[in-house]
Amino acid sequence: MKYISTRGQAPVLNFEEVLLAGLASDGGLYVPESLPHYSKAEINEWQGLSYADLAFRIIQPFVSDSIPAKDLKSIIDESYAGFRHPAVAPLTQLDHNEWILELYHGPTLAFKDFALQLLGRLLDYILQRRHQHVSILGATSGDTGSAAIEGCRRCENVDIYILHPHNRVSDVQRKQMTTVNGENIHNLAVEGNFDDCQSIVKACFNDQSFLQGKHSLVAVNSINWARIMAQIVYYFYAALAVGGPSKKVSFSVPTGNFGDIFAGYLAKQMGLPIEQLVIATNKNDILHRCISNNDYSKKQLDHTLSPSMDIMVSSNFERLLFDLYDRDGAAVSALLDNFNEGAVSLDDRVWKRARENFDSSAVDDDQTCETIAEIFEATELLIDPHTAIGVRAARQCNRNRSIPMITLSTAHPVKFPEAVLKAGCEQPTLPHHMADLFEREERYKVVPNQVAEVQRAITGSND
Ligand SMILES: *Cc1c(COP(=O)(O)O)cnc(C)c1O
Repeated sequence: MKYISTRGQAPVLNFEEVLLAGLASDGGLYVPESLPHYSKAEINEWQGLSYADLAFRIIQPFVSDSIPAKDLKSIIDESYAGFRHPAVAPLTQLDHNEWILELYHGPTLAFKDFALQLLGRLLDYILQRRHQHVSILGATSGDTGSAAIEGCRRCENVDIYILHPHNRVSDVQRKQMTTVNGENIHNLAVEGNFDDCQSIVKACFNDQSFLQGKHSLVAVNSINWARIMAQIVYYFYAALAVGGPSKKVSFSVPTGNFGDIFAGYLAKQMGLPIEQLVIATNKNDILHRCISNNDYSKKQLDHTLSPSMDIMVSSNFERLLFDLYDRDGAAVSALLDNFNEGAVSLDDRVWKRARENFDSSAVDDDQTCETIAEIFEATELLIDPHTAIGVRAARQCNRNRSIPMITLSTAHPVKFPEAVLKAGCEQPTLPHHMADLFEREERYKVVPNQVAEVQRAITGSND
């Protein structure tokens, strides 16, 4: 499998190279040159496979000859063995023909474990073979950081540096990052907000001379193709569990960077019969404005009760635009080069195509809490605010109630107690295996909100 850039100018890479690459050299994102396609009969043969076995079938063609099949199989098996539910991604019924797919049974209780458990192991395998060591550098508003740390804690060839905004992540989220032991794990609490953390990370990637050639940096945010790839699997898994592929299914996806739902779009392109893909956003609604009004302009960031979806721009939307613009890298560049200059809209024909593929809805904080309360009242099931947004959007956008509607449940409610309490529900408790989280010792370093200070913290810890 070959990978090409959405801006058309960067070198073509194989899987191994794309895993280490992050952003393409032309500023674009890597996507597969072509996708495997499966008939209904072929998909039907996967009925009854365990999650890890299904993951191997779906992921193998994307990795192709970068990793021998036998080794890939054990990497995948190990990645999902640590999940605390035998089904890995169990479905729970909310109502007649309405379901949530529980993606929070991994080590950090959010769906990002699906990708990062695998990504850490893939990286370590490839780096071992290349006799190479890298530093992972990332900014987090909460969930990505802990999932990346858990995914890489045992990697011998990786140092990991995670920046979080000091005093601005929830206690559970911070403890999940700072109580993980390991010489290769470095938590930096930046005296600024999440945007500041992101800008610092960007500056470090743009000019890596501060590392003096010792290590190169690797990105673990969802611009990394391997994360998207891993997420394709659970769309197939859920569809098979409710009677697909002979029956169609619909999905509603709480969306921030458009990574998770883009994986659903790819599943559809690969042959999975999907009726609707619903983009569910909070007040940071650039994607909903784009789908409903062809308004793809930046707006100021709002802080909401669903912080993992607080974004101004959805970086993975570029991967979709590349398809919608008939894979014309120059057209994508032309559109996104203008992106900072006020109002942006898509070509009419491109916008129509986007609307053929996606429905959308934006849900505010009050509606989020209302939905948490409503679902608890009806089912005694406590859902987190991101999931609530997905459920609300699913109900608003559902066009055909004879088709199963599955909302991706992206996090355990214990990670977001503020929304749960506002909804009038009781504070959720930590799952058994992390009941002692608040007693564990924390390790992190507070650093001033300056690129040079962060760089010093990184190089200093290498000596
Ligand atoms: C990251 C995250 C999302 C958004 O996922 P994207 O791939 O950025 O769209 C939604 N919910 C939770 C809980 C998350 O951690």
